[in-house]
Amino acid sequence: MRTLVRVPTEDSRNRIEEAAAIVAGWPNVWGGLLVVHRAGPDGRCTECTRANRLAPRWPCGPAVLALRARRMARTPTPVENEVVVIERPE
Ligand SMILES: [Zn+2]
Repeated sequence: MRTLVRVPTEDSRNRIEEAAAIVAGWPNVWGGLLVVHRAGPDGRCTECTRANRLAPRWPCGPAVLALRARRMARTPTPVENEVVVIERPE
């Protein structure tokens, strides 16, 4: 049996970074995502369970976003009101 693994592309990583930068300012959002998107005993996300396919292993996409946002929120910025600049590939 073949197992298809979705490998994140550079573009999808950048989109997660952009979304995380926005969500970082909303602790209720990333905190809520981390409450419901957690690993079950089998290491798969308990929230992303679907009837027609296996749930993704944790951290699932929403958990990756929330974890990144939490890291951004907890990282003190050297300048108050600093603008978060995300580089895009040319
Ligand atoms: Zn999930």
